[in-house]
Amino acid sequence: MGINEDREMLISKLIGEGYLKSEKIIETFREVPREMFVPESDLANAYGDYPLQIGCGQTISAPHMVAIMTELLRPHKTENILEIGSGSGYQAAILSKLVKNVYTVELEPELAQTAAENLRKAGCTNVSVFEGDGSRGYPPFAPYDKILVTCATPDIMKAWKDQLKEGGWIIAPVGGFYHQELILLKKTKDGFEEQRHGGCIFVPLRNERL
Ligand code: SAH
Repeated sequence: MGINEDREMLISKLIGEGYLKSEKIIETFREVPREMFVPESDLANAYGDYPLQIGCGQTISAPHMVAIMTELLRPHKTENILEIGSGSGYQAAILSKLVKNVYTVELEPELAQTAAENLRKAGCTNVSVFEGDGSRGYPPFAPYDKILVTCATPDIMKAWKDQLKEGGWIIAPVGGFYHQELILLKKTKDGFEEQRHGGCIFVPLRNERL
């Protein structure tokens, strides 16, 4: 079976399981070639619904997790989004088709470079990859409409709250090493409102390179 059939099968599965819902996001999953974001040795698994190793002990999230995060984010064409944890660049590529600009921060220099390269090859011109510690957010382009954290964090960092526009929200897997809860934190004029969206497992946010 070819890669296009694999992609369609995965998309049908994610729709059937209720992870992919909106027409625009489904279309984006069709447009972005996930095979360009996985290591060559794993090309055959590009459309399996599980995480894959991408080097430096890190993983590209499973497609259903990318679907959940993207649907929750409710991306809009006018928005500037900050992502913490570029990894392979795949989540940023998906967002790039749905928003105005994506700024993504990656701690591991090697991965930051690969992500930038993958995004360039995939033709995503509205994504900027920065190397650094994303627990401090990324002040130069703040405030952001929304912030997506794709590594497990013990808390929603103050820097993220400060760099978020009023009316925007942060989505992050909050918890310990083995298990986290997907939290959506909305910034209102009176403070913050928290919603919980179920359990998940991400690789941890770190403050130092491995
Ligand atoms: N969104 C990615 C998956 C990210 S995996 C994708 O679509 O492929 C989590 C990533 O967060 C890893 O690449 C890890 O190196 C990175 N990371 C961990 N701690 C970080 C920090 N403090 N700042 C920025 N990135 C961090």
